[in-house]
Amino acid sequence: MIDLFNQPRPELGNQFEDDALLRSYLRRMLPAELLDTVRPSLFEMGALAGGELYRMQLAEREIEPVLTQWDAWGERIDRVTTTPLWQRGERLAAEYGLVAEAYEQGYGRFSRTVQFALVYLFHPSSDFVTCPLAMTDGAARTLLRSGNQALIERALPHLTSRDPAHFWISGQWMTESTGGSEVGRSQTVAVQEDGGWRLYGRKWFTSAVTSQLALALARPLGNPPGGRGLALFYLELHGQDGKLNHIHVNRLKDKLGTRKLPTAELALEGTPALPVSGLDNGVRNIIPMLHLTRAWNSVTAVSTMRRGLALAEDYARRRVAFGAPLSEQPLHRDTLAGVQAETAAAFLLTFTLVDLLGREEAGELVEGEEALLRLLTSIVKLATGRQAVAAASEVLELFGGAGYVEDTGLPLLLRDSQVFPIWEGTTNVLALDALRALLADGTGLWLLRERVEDITRSVSDPRLVTAAQTAESAVAAAAAWLERNAGSGEGLEAGARRFAMTLGRAFGLALLAEHADWALREEDDGRYINAAVRFAQMGVDLIFSE
Ligand SMILES: Cc1cc2nc3c(=O)[nH]c(=O)nc-3n(C[C@H](O)[C@H](O)[C@H](O)COP(=O)(O)OP(=O)(O)OC[C@H]3O[C@@H](n4cnc5c(N)ncnc54)[C@H](O)[C@@H]3O)c2cc1C
Repeated sequence: MIDLFNQPRPELGNQFEDDALLRSYLRRMLPAELLDTVRPSLFEMGALAGGELYRMQLAEREIEPVLTQWDAWGERIDRVTTTPLWQRGERLAAEYGLVAEAYEQGYGRFSRTVQFALVYLFHPSSDFVTCPLAMTDGAARTLLRSGNQALIERALPHLTSRDPAHFWISGQWMTESTGGSEVGRSQTVAVQEDGGWRLYGRKWFTSAVTSQLALALARPLGNPPGGRGLALFYLELHGQDGKLNHIHVNRLKDKLGTRKLPTAELALEGTPALPVSGLDNGVRNIIPMLHLTRAWNSVTAVSTMRRGLALAEDYARRRVAFGAPLSEQPLHRDTLAGVQAETAAAFLLTFTLVDLLGREEAGELVEGEEALLRLLTSIVKLATGRQAVAAASEVLELFGGAGYVEDTGLPLLLRDSQVFPIWEGTTNVLALDALRALLADGTGLWLLRERVEDITRSVSDPRLVTAAQTAESAVAAAAAWLERNAGSGEGLEAGARRFAMTLGRAFGLALLAEHADWALREEDDGRYINAAVRFAQMGVDLIFSE
């Protein structure tokens, strides 16, 4: 009898315990007492993500949400049933305050860091429950910013509840078939009937159609075309009778990834709605929501990178080829080191954005930092979105054939990652957005440059000085390019992505050098020096790469 050889399956441990960078970063950023307070919930979430939820995710691989349009007696019901992991994920999200944490402000300026550390642990085992959570967070903030007291009193207690029975989820209904980037062409109209507003139209991508409420863009009848003529509306999906409120679910999208997330095409056929703030400028009024969903996108992108890395690192220790574990083969180790460096830079970039967001909400930004926050919201989203796709592809290859086989659960990483650069604004759309913001007010770039220069001056290890200088000269090159091309129209637009990616990668490198310097000094841990050197070698200046 031949003793058949089985390939080793990768295992996940406690995802908080196993994440040296997360723990090191939190030690650096949070007051020790605060970290002691939040550690138990981070530990619990790490255990859930690496244990029960991950096992459910693998076991439910073939279960998908189901749309039932008609009941047995011919009534149109359009009921969407989500998967068991989704239902569990929604409850956990409420209990762990994955939205509430930010609004309770229990940890002041660190509330966002704590919230997003939990989200970062939760996301890769959640099958994208985080998508509607992002929109829920965005809706809470948009309503608060609108100052509409009636809607705040009605919805905020639900959106920020820790009680699963009271927790509500919000959708964000913008995209129509006429354009997701150019929402100004939206065709949904708002009509005044019987003293209230009703919406008529078709929404082309609406994720988590199982939500209780949505913020939607629609054009009040008679308003001019374009974004300014749109207004932002609040609507609840179900009426008193529990039935959908003049909404038909035409179909669920048949998507490459995020398949547990029910993304629907909707027909609005007189859906009752309330204006959130006035009857125009809807695109401007929904911006607070977009800023938050973009931050969530960055956090979930980097946490997916981290998941791929955790699995690949574990596999490398188990899988033997040519007489030794992969983890001892220099080229395999070197390939892993590339993913480690990308993940570390993406993590620090993302949590720097999160820190700014937390300080903004605690009223602790210093002059000009709003502009930096605005710039980084676009830059970090677009940089991490692209990094996540590249990392997932590399991770699959690190598994060889197993990475290509569906029931290992690995291809999911690649299919799911591909959404990060598309929704919440594509790479190009965000690059143009960043450019426009900088042409109107260059403060954000000025501050970013200053921060990178400070890092270059502060790091002491010569390898980190070189890495930080690489970042500094890339940012300087990007700034010079912007100055040279400011009036050049087509040339400026064509270079927007390279410009934005340069800022993202260079800032990521500088932040990595900064953390490496701290970790060496305070934790006697030199691993981030290697990551910084490696990241610098992989190239951060894309402006002159042609
Ligand atoms: C899984 C999934 C879920 C989604 N859920 C939601 C949701 O819940 N709510 C919602 O409102 N939307 C949702 N969307 C829609 C998403 O936000 C849009 O698909 C996205 O914004 C892009 O819009 P579009 O599809 O119309 O592409 P287009 O706008 O047609 O873009 C096509 C291409 O053109 C490029 N492009 C566009 N304009 C320019 C320009 N000026 N210069 C250079 N390049 C340009 C884009 O970068 C892109 O590569 C979802 C999408 C996906 C994939």
